[in-house]
Amino acid sequence: MSVAGLGDAGGAEPLVRLRGVGKQFAVAGGSFTALQGVDLALAAGEFVAVVGKSGSGKSTLMNLVAGLDRPTAGEIQVGQTRIDDLGESRLAAWRGRNVGVVFQFFQLLPTLTVVENVALPMDFCRTWPRQQAHGRALALLDQVGVADQANKLPAALSGGQQQRVAIARALANDPPLVVADEPTGNLDSHTTDMVLQLLAGLARIGKTVLMVTHERDIAAIAHRVVSLADGRVVGDARAAPAEATSRAQAVGSPGGGGSGAR
Ligand code: ADP
Ligand code: MG
Repeated sequence: MSVAGLGDAGGAEPLVRLRGVGKQFAVAGGSFTALQGVDLALAAGEFVAVVGKSGSGKSTLMNLVAGLDRPTAGEIQVGQTRIDDLGESRLAAWRGRNVGVVFQFFQLLPTLTVVENVALPMDFCRTWPRQQAHGRALALLDQVGVADQANKLPAALSGGQQQRVAIARALANDPPLVVADEPTGNLDSHTTDMVLQLLAGLARIGKTVLMVTHERDIAAIAHRVVSLADGRVVGDARAAPAEATSRAQAVGSPGGGGSGAR
């Protein structure tokens, strides 16, 4: 592990840049500071884990980067877009095309089939015509190894299968950025390995992957670990590329069955 410079993206032109980002929430009798003074740059193809104790601001940070919430201070730029000053509808449109989001509890729509869940973001954003969206959704399900589940309802799948579907859905509009909040928090260790391997594979094909976890050993698969405490960045450590790669391979070791995202 080498210590990265203050929030730097390792030399490459960053995809995501946060400058002086803060977030205050209105609470009874005043405001609560969940994040402050966050400077961070994330490069394309970087797999970054955000760690910290419960309440340290991990989910708040992820939500800001994903455009699910807005900062109360500072600037957030993703690609050429300043997302902190986009209006609500433009932010939603931006998010649909630029961010894939993976949650701890999958958040698949229970009344839609698996393939319909994956096709839905393409429908919403009109990125692919409906006829093509179905085929693309099937191809994405195949990439994450659950094409055989396409016509089932989510409830018929195991947790690990549902999370793979959620990853396929996150890729629907081919976003440059994928964020995941405790994506393995509800999975057993074998399934955890598969999901981590899939996320590592996304970084290998050039996506920026930001994963929130409170477990240090899960963060170890990432190229870089950003630590939060009380809403501030208190650590930013980068693994040597070979180190991260060998760990990624170890995670996807024989029997791991991770098909990887190709
Ligand atoms: P983590 O994901 O690291 O557990 P969060 O980012 O969810 O932490 O929360 C950071 C802090 O901000 C916590 O103290 C939490 O209670 C507070 N917080 C988060 N969301 C809100 C909200 N909508 N309103 C008020 N406080 C919030
Ligand atoms: Mg959280």
